Amino acid sequence: MSRQTRAANAFVTGLGPTATIALGDTLLENFSEEETLFVMAHEMGHYVRHHLWIGLAVAAIMTAIGAFLLQRILDRLVIRYSARLGYGALADIASLPLILFVVGVLSLAGEPISNAISRTIETDADRFALQLTVPADVSPEAAASTFERLGQLALSDPNPNPVARFLFWSHPTLDERVALVWQTMADRKHTEARSDLP
Ligand SMILES: [Zn+2]
Repeated sequence: MSRQTRAANAFVTGLGPTATIALGDTLLENFSEEETLFVMAHEMGHYVRHHLWIGLAVAAIMTAIGAFLLQRILDRLVIRYSARLGYGALADIASLPLILFVVGVLSLAGEPISNAISRTIETDADRFALQLTVPADVSPEAAASTFERLGQLALSDPNPNPVARFLFWSHPTLDERVALVWQTMADRKHTEARSDLP
């Protein structure tokens, strides 16, 4: 990974017996043992909670809806503007630029939807990692610094404009992920305190 980027990354890939968790050399070199463990737990969360299958299902559904919309929009455009376009059917090869243009517009429109789903999945993996490792194997400070280091190496904005976040962020923002660490710790203290009551 270090040949292509300075950003540290890890991912889980493959389905069934080919499932693999990959930790980048950029990650192994820059992160402490606790931080590496926390990233590993996050990736395990993707695996254990079947996020790959959810992602595949979402992609399949969105592609089907996109293909349906593509057909309807193109049919209408060709009927309405056939004189200006200079062709009367999508079977005409001259329609290719129009098809690609509408594909582009539709995928742009779909991006915020898939990003919102992705952010939910990522938060779920973060929760899994917190539950599995913090504080027994990873201190909450190390969990928080993992996110900070990831953000720094990727040069990402810790607290982007809400519109930019809505459109382009496939992961929760750095500030949100750090806040989740402390929120989880506070929630646990709260429930512990309550279970201490007679
Ligand atoms: Zn993830």
